[in-house]
Amino acid sequence: MAEDLRLEDNLAFAMASKCADDGLAVVRIAPEARGRPRRTPLRLELEDAAERRIGKQLGALGIAFELVGPENIMSLAATCRRLQCTSVIRNAADGMAIENGYRIAWEQELQSANIPFLTVNGEMIRRLGPGGAKPDRPFLSDDRLVESDKLPEDHPILLLRAFLQELPERNYLADMWTPGRDRASSSLLSTHFAAGTLSSDRAIWETVKAERLWKAANPDRSRSTEGASFRHFRSRIGMRTGFMTLFSRYQDKTPHIAFNDAQEGRVRAWREGRTGIPMPDAAMRELATTGWINFRLRQLVTSYGVQLLQLPAAEVGGALAEMFNDYEPGITWLQVGLNDGTIMQDRGPRILNPVKQGHDLDPSETYIRHWLPELETVPAGFGHEPWLWLKNPLPAPMVDHKAAYREARRRWGGKDQALVPRGEVTRTHGLPSSAGATTPIG
Ligand SMILES: Cc1cc2nc3c(=O)[nH]c(=O)nc-3n(C[C@H](O)[C@H](O)[C@H](O)COP(=O)(O)OP(=O)(O)OC[C@H]3O[C@@H](n4cnc5c(N)ncnc54)[C@H](O)[C@@H]3O)c2cc1C
Repeated sequence: MAEDLRLEDNLAFAMASKCADDGLAVVRIAPEARGRPRRTPLRLELEDAAERRIGKQLGALGIAFELVGPENIMSLAATCRRLQCTSVIRNAADGMAIENGYRIAWEQELQSANIPFLTVNGEMIRRLGPGGAKPDRPFLSDDRLVESDKLPEDHPILLLRAFLQELPERNYLADMWTPGRDRASSSLLSTHFAAGTLSSDRAIWETVKAERLWKAANPDRSRSTEGASFRHFRSRIGMRTGFMTLFSRYQDKTPHIAFNDAQEGRVRAWREGRTGIPMPDAAMRELATTGWINFRLRQLVTSYGVQLLQLPAAEVGGALAEMFNDYEPGITWLQVGLNDGTIMQDRGPRILNPVKQGHDLDPSETYIRHWLPELETVPAGFGHEPWLWLKNPLPAPMVDHKAAYREARRRWGGKDQALVPRGEVTRTHGLPSSAGATTPIG
């Protein structure tokens, strides 16, 4: 088990259960033991709870369950010998070069120990590498196994069902961007998806079923905004699998997570929300406190860091990887690439004006004032540009945002002409069609 921290909708577990006549053991290899960045406290809590849940479920079936962390990763072959396992089946994991390095090492080790090792791809994602062949259809457990009364009460499928019940009452598409209303409109399930405690295919299938039921009960509202929320939610989940499938093509280009001393002060100020420009600063403080910000704010802080502050993209992505509860390499690194212009070059990078975004997304200044209490002394109307008021309680802005914005546009060509990068970038096309189907990905 890696990014598949569940027994339901788990192809490797289902295959192993089917062919293990004389027993089976389950081993969970923790992210740190696979070279992933540190997990946030909430992510750890959620994964610990999942491990306890799985331990109980397996215990009831008489199946051994072992956790392998960086401290006891020593040898997978030794673990197999101890558990008397004669073959290993594993779900395909993400396409990070570092993760692949671990897989190759385990494969070689098990091969020399004469233990067959099979990698399977149950979620129709991650097409490259072993287990990457695209199956005809995703693997899902029988619906009867995941009936609500059969699942432990803390199971994420139950959270998903509760969200789908409320989805038509939420203003999903309009409010997901809006600070203050975002958490009440979107599912907040991304940490479950990223941890693998919930499968994306399960989410799509449950949404299809909930949509059918709702439309049957509300025939006159099927074309309404409420009815469309199911489609929009499915399309967002489709983006997730689209990004992850695409990511395998970029695995070798994944930047190293390395910090550069000279820029440390700027990176720290950006990361801690102390650059003097309220909207991105507030978003970074929300992220540092809660581990989650909405999609538009993620774009804003990334574009601001990479384009206006000119921080190295690897450092921006590296910090986000440590701060997001839902860190998923396939999404974060492609999004950073979209923001720095190395991906989808024809469209150019996302260059956002942080002050304009502030006025658009938070016209009442409620959001910035919540996360930057220092603004208390600044009168209404000046919150997004406190340097225009007589006494600015924030540090002076680290950049003149207008000049930095113009400079960023100039680096890529004028606003109205085709964007032409000056530096050497990777020319790539073909973001997954699902990624841009109804809502722009960037
Ligand atoms: C720079 C940047 C980095 C990002 N990094 C991550 C990341 O590491 N992990 C992550 O899960 N999402 C990432 N996203 C995408 C998106 O912001 C989050 O998935 C979303 O905000 C999670 O909230 P939610 O679960 O309430 O989403 P919902 O609106 O409820 O959507 C349901 C699910 O669909 C998927 N999804 C939604 N939007 C996107 C999207 N734009 N791209 C891909 N999948 C999407 C997620 O799995 C999400 O849980 C990133 C976006 C940007 C701009």
